[in-house]
Amino acid sequence: MDYQQILEEISHHVRPMFGKGRVADYIPALAGVPGSKFGMALHTLDGGFFHVGDAEERFSIQSMSKVFALNLAISQIGDDLWKRVGREPSGNAFNSLVQLEHENGIPRNPMINAGALVVSDVLLSRFGDARQTLLDYMRFLSASQDVVFDTGVAQSELEHGYRNLALASFLKSHGNLENEPEAVLDLYCHQCALAMSCDELARAAYHLANGGVSAEPRETILTLSQAKRVNAVMMTCGLYDAVGEFAYRVGLPGKSGVGGGIMAVMPGEYSVAVWSPELDAYGNSMVGGAALEHLTTLTGRSVF
Ligand code: GLU
Repeated sequence: MDYQQILEEISHHVRPMFGKGRVADYIPALAGVPGSKFGMALHTLDGGFFHVGDAEERFSIQSMSKVFALNLAISQIGDDLWKRVGREPSGNAFNSLVQLEHENGIPRNPMINAGALVVSDVLLSRFGDARQTLLDYMRFLSASQDVVFDTGVAQSELEHGYRNLALASFLKSHGNLENEPEAVLDLYCHQCALAMSCDELARAAYHLANGGVSAEPRETILTLSQAKRVNAVMMTCGLYDAVGEFAYRVGLPGKSGVGGGIMAVMPGEYSVAVWSPELDAYGNSMVGGAALEHLTTLTGRSVF
């Protein structure tokens, strides 16, 4: 399979779509990112690496961080996590307060904000310096010491994060946070503000395509069963309210973020990351979704 040729074809194919979506502006620090950026990187399990466009440029990974935080939490407390957070698609906005109230403080899944806040709480309780642990984890997985928190983005989100603070307070009132809401929110906003490139993200997601084992150095990040489960959660909950549409069009487990990134895996074959900041009405990268759809069409392979 000539992946480089495929990525170049995709990059050409998606050009006419620029200008049709909207860059996220509810986090002020994200609003200034140029909408015309496009990068895509793909890692095959046999060590092949391919990329096009702005694949080396770092951007705010936002909700894609929820997958990595989930990994860390699962590797620490295993199935106990599921006593505090569900694993069903939500069918509601990613930052919905209403659903949390209906479901008595047990978030529907770890890919919506309420669930991710519970995951952050687990990390805070398990690690002395959870922020640094998460940063080291991302640096290891991406094989890049240059991964950093964009503190401007974290600050911007902390200053405007009234809804997330409300979610955290609500979780606390239901006894589903061990730490104080402000501390949980601080960790959550920093994980969302990780700045990474498509190259780094594709590498970081490699273990999810490879039964839980990282690229060189080979380490078991998740057991085979845990990797399957994280991929299942991405498949059913990873694309906000458009998860069915993404499964229909792309056919891969994936996770998006409002910074315009989407990462996905084809288990047994490759991990991939794409970035284009203009979002569709669901908050997913418009061009990124189309690029991944072309990828599974042109390769003729998906999980289905
Ligand atoms: N940090 C963002 C928020 O909590 C994450 C949004 C996202 O990428 O889904 O609103």
